Amino acid sequence: MAADNGQGTNDKASLFLFLPTRAYANLLLGRRADVGHRMPLRETEAIVLRTYRLGEADKIASLFTRQLGRLRAVAQGALRPKGRYGGTLEPLSYVRLWIFERENRDLLQLNSVEIIESFFGMQADYRVQLAAQFLAEVGDRLLPEREVNERVFRLLLAVLRALKNSAEVNRPLLYFDYWMVRLGGFLPDFENCASCGRALGEEGGHYARGSESLLCRNCTHPGGKVVSAASLAMVKAACRQPLDKWLAQEKAPPGCREARHFFEEIIESHTEKKLVTRQMMEEEV
Ligand SMILES: [Zn+2]
Repeated sequence: MAADNGQGTNDKASLFLFLPTRAYANLLLGRRADVGHRMPLRETEAIVLRTYRLGEADKIASLFTRQLGRLRAVAQGALRPKGRYGGTLEPLSYVRLWIFERENRDLLQLNSVEIIESFFGMQADYRVQLAAQFLAEVGDRLLPEREVNERVFRLLLAVLRALKNSAEVNRPLLYFDYWMVRLGGFLPDFENCASCGRALGEEGGHYARGSESLLCRNCTHPGGKVVSAASLAMVKAACRQPLDKWLAQEKAPPGCREARHFFEEIIESHTEKKLVTRQMMEEEV
């Protein structure tokens, strides 16, 4: 569904009436004439992370764009019943959009949006919905603003498609967690204690709330959790292949939830605030 981007040739004729003389001359000469303080339109693909209400009629959309990184943009009139955006700004929609910067303002402005692929229907399954919301929340909190990251963009799309097509939650989430940690440069040492350097061995590693690394039995604090060496080895091997290839194998191996919990601890320790969806997932997924 494409909303009118206001750049059609029909609009051009009527625009002439309002343009100052020099801008009109530039148009006739084929030069760019931006109207007012608007910067040129940019086209990019994006995944909608979340939207917020802005006043009576507008929305702010947090978007992870392929060509410009994560950014926030105003969608004017998005809350109006017959607004130009329709359902295009549903969280996790994969869209193509046209956007422009506004001088001296942090927020960009959306001009038009069209859906490439929707991930809305799959969210009728509550566990899938929670998993999808977790992806959006982590993306919104963890991805640096205006930093292009093609690998993370492809990762998000692959995980969304896996959730949609398999309705399985654990393997897609673990794959997402592992690669977000690894691509973010937070992957800890799986083999040795981060405090004393001793080999962790069969027993695996201990970690506590807010941990970013693994400790041996002697260095750990009481009340922590353990992730076994077998689970860590499974993750390393499984996440080396494409996600759809892994999902084609019969069923999730043991240790997925245990490993997921550890990687989600690392993710949360980097997001500063507690992740709402993570708490919800702990009971359901
Ligand atoms: Zn130690």
